[in-house]
Amino acid sequence: MGLIPRKLDGIYKRKIQGLITDLSLKNKTIAVISHQQKCNNCLWDHVHKSSSNKYNGTGPRPFQQGVCPICRGVGVTTQETQRRLQASVRFGQMANQQPDRYTQSGLIPEGHAMLKVNANQHATLHQAKYFLINGVRYTPVSESGRPQERGLLTHAISTLLVREDR
Ligand SMILES: [Zn+2]
Repeated sequence: MGLIPRKLDGIYKRKIQGLITDLSLKNKTIAVISHQQKCNNCLWDHVHKSSSNKYNGTGPRPFQQGVCPICRGVGVTTQETQRRLQASVRFGQMANQQPDRYTQSGLIPEGHAMLKVNANQHATLHQAKYFLINGVRYTPVSESGRPQERGLLTHAISTLLVREDR
């Protein structure tokens, strides 16, 4: 990379990041992240790593017998949080392309979309369980989920291929 001065690289990064921020206004993208936490209604069984199915005395739904009505005996509950993502979105339009044949040619299969975010949102992009793009649900495609590093764009942007849920 000796041909490009470091200063120019910095300018280029700022330009490309500004572009992604501008493009992100065209579509509303929300990253949905799920977290697991201990159930707030029952006592945790350390031995079996699940609910003891005994009311903890403070939870919202007291119960006398059977499984905990909040976690169904699992002992943990899953919560989802939504985070607005500044992402440029390119939707696939190749009507006859087979869905799983995404290649490096840059073609995005129908029903898929390519998300690009600035590097500072890389973690959110890759933590997300799924995305809502203009209200439509998309799930990450695992194979292509790695960040791409291409020349100058290294550390400037992060990309992820997602597929529409049907
Ligand atoms: Zn519980």
